[in-house]
Amino acid sequence: MSVLEVFETMEYGPAPESPSSANAWLDDHGRKFGLFINNQWVTPKSADYYTSYNPATGEKLGETVQAGQKEVDAAVAAARQAFQTWSKTPGVVRARYLYAIARNIQKHHRLLAVLESMDNGKPLRESRDIDVPLLARHFFYHAGWAQLMETELRDYQPVGVIGQIIPWNFPLLMLAWKIAPAIALGNTVVLKPASYTRLSALLFAEVVAEAGLPPGVINVITGSSKAGTMVVTHPDVDKIAFTGSTDVGRILRRQTAGSGKKLSLELGGKSPFVVFEDADLDGAIEGVVDAIWFNQGQVCCAGSRLLVQENIADRFLEKLKLRMGHLRVGDPLDKCIDIGAIVDQTQWDTIDHWVKTGVKEGGELFQPDIKLPDKGLFYPPTLICNLDPAAETVQEEIFGPVLVSLTFRTPAEAIALANNTRYGLAASVWSDNINLALDVASKLKAGSVWVNSTNLFDAASGFGGYRESGFGREGGREGLFEYLRPAWQERPRPGFQPEGEPAKSKWGAYTPARPTMPNGFKPNGKELPRVDRTPKMYIGGAQVRPDGYYTRAVLGPHGEVVGQVGDGNRKDIRNAVEAAHAAHLAKPGWAMRHGFNRSQILYFIAENLDARSDEFARRLRAMTGQSLSSAQAEVVASVERLFTYAAWADKYGGSVQETTLRGVTVGVNEPIGVMGIACPDEFPLLAFVSLMAPAIARGNTVVMIPSEKYPLSATDLYQVLDTSDVPPGVVNIVTGDRDHLIKTLIQHEDVDSVWYFGSAEGCYHVEHESAANMKRTWVGYGLKRNWLSREEGEGHEFLHEATQVKNIWVPTGE
Ligand code: NAP
Repeated sequence: MSVLEVFETMEYGPAPESPSSANAWLDDHGRKFGLFINNQWVTPKSADYYTSYNPATGEKLGETVQAGQKEVDAAVAAARQAFQTWSKTPGVVRARYLYAIARNIQKHHRLLAVLESMDNGKPLRESRDIDVPLLARHFFYHAGWAQLMETELRDYQPVGVIGQIIPWNFPLLMLAWKIAPAIALGNTVVLKPASYTRLSALLFAEVVAEAGLPPGVINVITGSSKAGTMVVTHPDVDKIAFTGSTDVGRILRRQTAGSGKKLSLELGGKSPFVVFEDADLDGAIEGVVDAIWFNQGQVCCAGSRLLVQENIADRFLEKLKLRMGHLRVGDPLDKCIDIGAIVDQTQWDTIDHWVKTGVKEGGELFQPDIKLPDKGLFYPPTLICNLDPAAETVQEEIFGPVLVSLTFRTPAEAIALANNTRYGLAASVWSDNINLALDVASKLKAGSVWVNSTNLFDAASGFGGYRESGFGREGGREGLFEYLRPAWQERPRPGFQPEGEPAKSKWGAYTPARPTMPNGFKPNGKELPRVDRTPKMYIGGAQVRPDGYYTRAVLGPHGEVVGQVGDGNRKDIRNAVEAAHAAHLAKPGWAMRHGFNRSQILYFIAENLDARSDEFARRLRAMTGQSLSSAQAEVVASVERLFTYAAWADKYGGSVQETTLRGVTVGVNEPIGVMGIACPDEFPLLAFVSLMAPAIARGNTVVMIPSEKYPLSATDLYQVLDTSDVPPGVVNIVTGDRDHLIKTLIQHEDVDSVWYFGSAEGCYHVEHESAANMKRTWVGYGLKRNWLSREEGEGHEFLHEATQVKNIWVPTGE
């Protein structure tokens, strides 16, 4: 036998890592753990315990407390107490603590990695080389933001006590993504790890205490989903940061609705992995391995939908099957292992159920003939081909080592198939044609797009979803805003308390207004009646009659009729959404126009509004009864605001992120899409302009619901828009009952985001109903805002809400 033959036939020998350090740590604690509150282990007198097992061996690892209300209250109280001083601790001091935590993580690197693999089942190669290094990296990176906060983020303050709930697939990494930015910016934390993987969070708590972090800044409570609910609904928690399934995300959105708590949701995915005919096929094969068999496929952004160009599909799948036959499944602590154990029997059963469903749906199943360990929760790498794009197995998140494969012919078809999902977390595009790859990347609806690469993460680049993959970002400058509030803003504590089931609420119930005589005309037989001018709806650039032909009277300060407007209904809203979509998709759509063009149009609107300022001021005075000078000031401020967003139209595009990638990572501030915006009654013109302008400046198309009480300044604006080159459908205006109209918008599947500045009750319903398709919302909780002030009425808060960040990763080099 030649050396080459020996080399080619040689089996890998095992290269096991010793579990002794983790076992010693577990033994030191008697394999029984309390809760980590105020830097101390707290063991309730009569607690229930949960047992953790190693999924690869079935061996019992330890027991942890099932926290109840009393314990959750104690953890929140500790965090609240610590917030008083931590939020006032200078950033440069907080930076030292984060730095110390990062260094301490590095010192305990091996122990953290081994325990993580034992508790979760992931290969040590991954916990040692990816999870723990990234854990440290997040604390180093955010130590930097703590250092810079007072100069770079001086218009912001910390949010308060943050409840953080994380899943089991990356227990340490998810914890880092949440805790590092929170404490860097002066917040304090109550963290609940997932039940299956509680142990590394407890070890991390010790690592933190050892680094000298003041008591109460980080508290870790173990418990079931019930403890999660207690954290979410706790009145003294100011924000919930959640990572987990979309179904639980929906529950949390409903539970926090209208409470004034901030919420960020990092949810599930079904990410496409798109391979074009000119891709480096061997590179792409390794990409697939990394995309779907990394962490046993239990990855939110796993490339679980393979889309291959039809003419190379057979060759590619053949190569892939060959490669699958070389994957090694087994003991996670063996450093030569590619695929470890599934976290729990329940997950194993779910994966198996989906594979059987795929076969029932007509899929062609391939599992390589490789050896699996005799015991432990192992599942073979699995490929299912020839499924219909609408098959459940293609649409639903399986969260296991299961890849489904489809084919496409043209780039347009690839984009359509890739976007044919309710999720939007990540995507991977493989082509040696950089023009094609970047064009496709820009058209995919996903928060992260990796070109000729996959599963790249770094603290300097935000991670998070579009659509039902959630909202908010973790990492990068964009992720900081999840843990900040504008310096002027108190924590909103809205007065409205929902009673009973929202489905039974009368919110948005609607009775059309009764018609009144136009313009206060009283027939006396002598005068000619004034020409009736009832402003219509403004939809698709045309003035159209309300669908129901109803009108409503607009009353002045003394109850006199100062005008009429159309009383919009569901049909008007649907037409307006359709027009907004058409404007979005037109060629070139509003979002595709360059910033300079959008800024020119905003300047033009300002110019034309300014030219008619007297008329607008008189209209405002007639409706609201304010003095002419204050009405004039409102018009002047509205013109000014249009100038502000004309300025921002070409200055908020994004940035090149300084990640650890050799190449470029571009964070693009993309428009959200079609937005529904309900305006408040105060400052009827200025608030309307302050909400419309940032949305359209950043490439969104909008359906505006003007002030219900004072809509005439918005309807007068049609003529300004008409003469300012605003393309049809970019701004649509539907007048009428605000809550009735917003209800249709929030329920509309084709509306991507809703802003609502009506009552506290309305805010509750808007947030609650948004859970149906995880629409992004921004509400005012019924609180007054000083729209005249530049601090409260314009700027980054508005731009942030009008955009979503997509990070495109492009490696360079050979
Ligand atoms: P999960 O069932 O949603 O649970 C996530 C966390 O929420 C766990 O700590 C869980 O506690 C807790 N929880 C469950 N029900 C709750 C409730 N009603 N109220 C409050 N807390 C509740 O998700 P998972 O199975 O652990 O994780 C898998 C999911 O996470 C996948 O969908 C995956 O895509 C997603 N994920 C997303 C990202 C991202 O960044 N977008 C990253 C990783 C994972 P118990 O464990 O005690 O039940």
